[in-house]
Amino acid sequence: MKKFTSVKTRITLWYTALMLILISVVLILTGTLSYRLSLNSIENDIILKVSKISEKVNARHSVEIFNDVNRNEYFKNVSVYLENGEYLVGQYQYDVSSVPFAPNKLRRETVSGEEYIIYDVFKPARPGDGQGYFIRGAESISYSRIFGRSAFVILLFVIPLILILTAFGGYYITKKAFMPINNIIKTANEIADRNDVKQRIEIPPNSRRDELHDLSLTLNRMLDRIENLIIQEKQFTSDASHELRTPISVILTQGEYLLDIANDEKEKELAESIVTKAKQVSSLVSHLLLLARIDQSRQKLSMETVDLCLLTDISSENLKILADRKNISIINKVPEGLTVMADEALLLSAVGNLLSNGIKYGKDFGEITVSAEKSESEVKISIADNGIGISPKHIDKIWDRFYRVDDARNDEYGSNGLGLSMVKSIISLHGGSITVQSQPNIGTRFEIILHC
Ligand code: ADP
Repeated sequence: MKKFTSVKTRITLWYTALMLILISVVLILTGTLSYRLSLNSIENDIILKVSKISEKVNARHSVEIFNDVNRNEYFKNVSVYLENGEYLVGQYQYDVSSVPFAPNKLRRETVSGEEYIIYDVFKPARPGDGQGYFIRGAESISYSRIFGRSAFVILLFVIPLILILTAFGGYYITKKAFMPINNIIKTANEIADRNDVKQRIEIPPNSRRDELHDLSLTLNRMLDRIENLIIQEKQFTSDASHELRTPISVILTQGEYLLDIANDEKEKELAESIVTKAKQVSSLVSHLLLLARIDQSRQKLSMETVDLCLLTDISSENLKILADRKNISIINKVPEGLTVMADEALLLSAVGNLLSNGIKYGKDFGEITVSAEKSESEVKISIADNGIGISPKHIDKIWDRFYRVDDARNDEYGSNGLGLSMVKSIISLHGGSITVQSQPNIGTRFEIILHC
C-alpha cells in the first residue's frame, strides 16, 4: 500500500494514465480520419473499375472481350452477371451475389454481418436491347478489412510497449529526481533514532544543482547551527553546575553548623530547611554535571567485575532510612556471585536512583524486588515495585530531563525530574538498554539489559 502513496508512484501512474488517454485519442482520431479517406478511395475505385468494364462491354458487344483483359487487374472486386442474375465472369463474391441489382446507385449493404459498398451498372448487349449484362463492383468496408492486421498489431504490442516504457522511464527519472529527498528522510530518521545531530544530508558531488540540492544545503546549514546551539547549551549547563558547586557546599556546611548551634525549635526548623534545600540543589547539580559529562563524551568508564548481589545490598543499605519511613521492604533476589562488567560507581548510582524512585512512589508497607539473571551474552536486572505506577499517557515522557508526573507530590521528596534521564544515560554509556512497564496503582518494573 505504501508503494501507491509515494509521490514517485503517483507521478508515474499519472503520466502513464495520461499517455494511455493521449494514445487512445490519437488512435481514435487518426483511425476515424483514415477510415473516411479509405471509404472515399474505395468508392471512387469501384465506380472507376465498373465504368471501365462497362465501356469494354459496350465496345465489343460480346462477352469474348473478357478473354483479352487482364483479369486480375480489371476484375478485382468486380463481377459480370447476365440480366437474369446468372454469374458470368469476374471475381465471384459469394455474399454479395444475392443482393438485388440496382443500377447506377452507389450504396451500402450489410450481408452476413459485413458491410459492403456496392455499385451496379446495366449494359444492354445491343443499343435498345433488353438483354445485356449487370456489372457489379463490391468491396467490404469493415474496419478489420480496411486496416488489416496492422491495427491489431498496434493495439496488442505497440501500445503496451509505449505504456511500459512510459511507466518505467517515468519511475526511473522521478526516482533519480527524488534521491535527495530520500537522503533527507534517511538523515532525519538517523537523527531521530540515534539522537545524533552530527549526521548530515549526503550530497553527491555530481548532483544536479536544483531546488532539492539547495534544500539539502540549507538543511545541512541548519543542522550545523542546531549542533552548535546544543554544544553551547551543554557547555553552559556544565559551566553553571561547576560554578554552583562551591557556593552550595558552603551553604550546606553552614546550614549544618547552624543546626548544631540552634538555640530553640524555631532556629532548628530554619536550619533544617536550609540543609534539606541545599542537599536537593547539591544532588541536582551533581546530576547535571554527570549528564553534561556524558553528553560531552567526557565521562570515562572504569570497567570492572561488579558483584550485583553485593551492589544491591549496598544500595538498599544507603536507602534504609528512607525505606523505613514508609515501611517499604527491599527484597534482594539477585543470585549470589552473579557478576557483570560495569563502572561500579555509575551502576550503583543508577540502581540507587531506581530504588529511591521505588520508595518515593511506593505505597506504605510496600515492596521493591530486585532480581537478575545472566545468559551467555547479557545480564538482565529487574527492579519492580508495587507502588502508585505510571499512567500510559506519561510513560514515554518519564525519560525526558526535568519531566515530573506530579509536581506537587514530587516536591515532597525533593525530586528534580533528572533521575531517570541520568539512569538512561548511564546504561546507554555502558552500551545497554533500559525499559519500563507500569500499571497505575499496581506497580512499576524497570528492566536493565547489560551486555557481557
Ligand atoms: P524524579 O526526580 O521526579 O523522581 P525521575 O526522572 O526519577 O525524576 O522520574 C520521572 C518521573 O517518573 C517521576 O516524577 C515519577 O512521576 C515517575 N516515576 C519514576 N519512577 C517511578 C516509579 N517507580 N513509580 C511510579 N512513578 C515513577
